[in-house]
Amino acid sequence: MSSEFRFPLTDVKENGRLDVNAKTAPETFPDALSEGALVGPVALEGTILAVDDEAAFTGTAKGKWRFECTRCLKPLEQTWSAPIEVMVPIDGGPMDLTDEVRQSIALAQPMKIICKPDCRGLCAVCKKNRNEVNCGHPEIGAGDGVPGGGFAETRHPRLTPRPQKG
Ligand SMILES: [Zn+2]
Ligand SMILES: [Zn+2]
Repeated sequence: MSSEFRFPLTDVKENGRLDVNAKTAPETFPDALSEGALVGPVALEGTILAVDDEAAFTGTAKGKWRFECTRCLKPLEQTWSAPIEVMVPIDGGPMDLTDEVRQSIALAQPMKIICKPDCRGLCAVCKKNRNEVNCGHPEIGAGDGVPGGGFAETRHPRLTPRPQKG
C-alpha cells in the first residue's frame, strides 16, 4: 500500500495549513479504470487548511492515461485532471487521500474516446483502419453487427438468423 498521498496533520494544526505537492506511481491505482490504463505518475496538488476542528483539503489530481479509440482501436494518450475536496477531523491522524484520488479517477474516466470526431473506424470486411488505408471495400453502415464503423448509430433492427436448409 502506497503512502505518498497520506499527510500528517500536525503541521496543519500548528501552522493552519500544509501545501501538498505529491506524486505516486500509477500502480497505486490498479483498479481505478475499467478500461485503458494510467500512464506515468499521478500528481496531487493543493492545500490542507485548518478549519475549526477539521482539516480540509482542496486541490487537484492529475496525470495521463491511455485508451483505445472506440471506433478504430488506435491507442490514445490524454492528460486528465480531477478536483479533490476532503474534510476530516484534525485530530483524526494522518489524512489519506489515496482512496479519494482513486474514486476521482474512476469518475473522470470517459465513457467513450474517439481519436478524432470524424474517425472512420475499422473496415468491416478487412479490419484495416479506414483513417489510414483506403482498402476499397464499400463502407457498410452497420454490416451485420460488425464492431467499428458507426455500428451503434445505425444498428440494423433485423438480426434474426436465417433458417438453415439441408
Ligand atoms: Zn479512431
Ligand atoms: Zn477493407
